[in-house]
Amino acid sequence: MSSILNADLHCHSVVSDGTLTPEELAARAAANGVELWALTDHDEIGGQHRAAAAARANGMRYLTGTEISVTFAGETVHIVGLGFDPDDAAISQGLYDTRGGRGKRAQEMSEGLAKVGIHGAYEGALKFVGNPELISRTHFARFLVEQGHCRDTPEVFRKFLTEGKPGYVPHRWATLKDAVHWITAAKGLAVIAHPGRYKFTANEEYALFLEFKAHGGKAIEVVTGSHTPAEFVEYADKALEFDFAASRGSDFHSPDESHCDLGELPPLPGALTPVWELLGDRIQQ
Ligand code: AMP
Ligand code: MN
Ligand code: MN
Ligand code: MN
Repeated sequence: MSSILNADLHCHSVVSDGTLTPEELAARAAANGVELWALTDHDEIGGQHRAAAAARANGMRYLTGTEISVTFAGETVHIVGLGFDPDDAAISQGLYDTRGGRGKRAQEMSEGLAKVGIHGAYEGALKFVGNPELISRTHFARFLVEQGHCRDTPEVFRKFLTEGKPGYVPHRWATLKDAVHWITAAKGLAVIAHPGRYKFTANEEYALFLEFKAHGGKAIEVVTGSHTPAEFVEYADKALEFDFAASRGSDFHSPDESHCDLGELPPLPGALTPVWELLGDRIQQ
């Protein structure tokens, strides 16, 4: 399989903070020409068997996936896992524990919004939730847009729910070490999601890459819907510098919200090792 394979290895369903079901995503991915697909719901693998079956029904190859929330150097970092055993008990337990604090955090976010006059946000966000264990900031964002407080979700994240803004609640997620170990112990491969999105200094990013590698991490996302074209180039260089394989994924959440659709990204730069070349035997035909 070459680097021009249409692989989309990052997206979200109603099992986390997307608006489409795994089956709807599979049909949309296939219609857009995706040949190798992974559903990567936040901190959750409950949709994996459905997604694999839907991929098969739509003629796509499939890799299991998830996107784990991690706290590193005081920031939230996302680690994508690919090709792990979806029935592995330890990764299921680790993700269950990671989801654990979301309910209380959501109540506190709602209290923070009430202080600026926005009432009923917890109940309002819940209306958009597909999985009661996975209430996220995205669901609050949909409520704030529905209520006319903001025009779209990017505006929500500029005005609310982020550090220093109303409704922000700091949260401690999984450790980098645990997240990478859950993935690799379940025979999967760990990938740093959208490295260009973190507000790290050069030194902090260097520490993240080295620690991730020391724990057994193997790849970074280079071509992602969360990067600018300039960041495709920047992180292609960093993948080569750190000897990481490269991944590609839209980070699609919703037809109404995502500017980048499934399968619609440039190919990985040819000099890189595509992550799927390291995952040959984990790919479901
Ligand atoms: P949570 O896991 O509850 O902290 O929510 C994180 C989710 O919020 C991410 O996975 C994105 O879907 C969404 N998100 C975070 N920042 C932004 C942003 N600046 N614009 C749009 N969506 C965002
Ligand atoms: Mn999300
Ligand atoms: Mn992410
Ligand atoms: Mn994502």
